[in-house]
Amino acid sequence: MVIIMLGAPGTGKGTVSAILKEKLEIAHVSSGDIFRKYSSEDSELGREINSYLQQGKLVPDELTIKMIKERLNEKDVEKGVILDGFPRTEAQAVALDKMLSETGKKVDLVVDLDSPKQEILDRIVTRRICQDCKAVYNTKLNKPKVEGICDKCGGKLYQRDDDTIEKVETRIEVYKKETKPLEEYYNKKGNLFEIEVTEKTGTMAKEAAEKVISKINSEL
Ligand code: ADP
Ligand code: ZN
Repeated sequence: MVIIMLGAPGTGKGTVSAILKEKLEIAHVSSGDIFRKYSSEDSELGREINSYLQQGKLVPDELTIKMIKERLNEKDVEKGVILDGFPRTEAQAVALDKMLSETGKKVDLVVDLDSPKQEILDRIVTRRICQDCKAVYNTKLNKPKVEGICDKCGGKLYQRDDDTIEKVETRIEVYKKETKPLEEYYNKKGNLFEIEVTEKTGTMAKEAAEKVISKINSEL
C-alpha cells in the first residue's frame, strides 16, 4: 500500500503519518527528515541541501527524486509506505508514478490535510522535534511528560531552524505555488481524501488518522 500525505507545513502530516505507521505496520518515509539528516553533515551535498532548508525553499526536483528513489528501494518499504512530504511538485508526482509502475505498484490513497492559517502558525512556533527518533511534540497541544525530553526514547527535543514565523510564511507560499496543484493531479485520478485538521471541530492528528483508517478499511 502506498499512501501520500499532502498538506501545508504545520497541518500535521508527520504526526498523522507516525500514527498510521503504527496502525498499518508499514514504513514512514519523511523527505524532510531525510533532508535534515543530510543538511547536518559536513559535506558539499549537506551544505547544498541545508541552504534550501534554511530558506524554506524546495530542494531541486532532480536531487529530491534521486534521494527518494534510493530510499524506496530499501527492503522495509516493500510491504507499503506512507510518503510524508513527497511528492511536492508535479515533476515529483510524475516521477513517483513511474517508479511505482516499474514494480507494479501505484498510489493507493492521497491524504490531503488542511488547517486554518492561524492554527498552522501557532502550531509551528510551538513545535518541538526529538533529535533522535524525530517524534513530534508541541509545547501547548502535545507536551512531553518531561519538558524538553522525548517520551518515546529519552532524546532531547529541539526546535527546527525553519520553524520561525518568517520562514513558515515562505514555506506556505511555496506550498501554494508548487504543491497545491497536486490536489487536482490526484483528484483527477480519484484517490484524493481531504481532511480538515482544526481545533474548531476537535479534528486533530489522532482523529484524522482514524478517518484514514476507516477509509482504508471501507474502500481499499
Ligand atoms: P514542512 O511540511 O513542515 O514544511 P518538511 O519536514 O516536510 O516540513 O520539509 C522541510 C523542508 O525540506 C522543506 O521546506 C524543503 O526545503 C525540504 N523538502 C522536503 N520535502 C521536499 C520535497 N519533496 N521536495 C523538495 N524539497 C523538500
Ligand atoms: Zn525520541
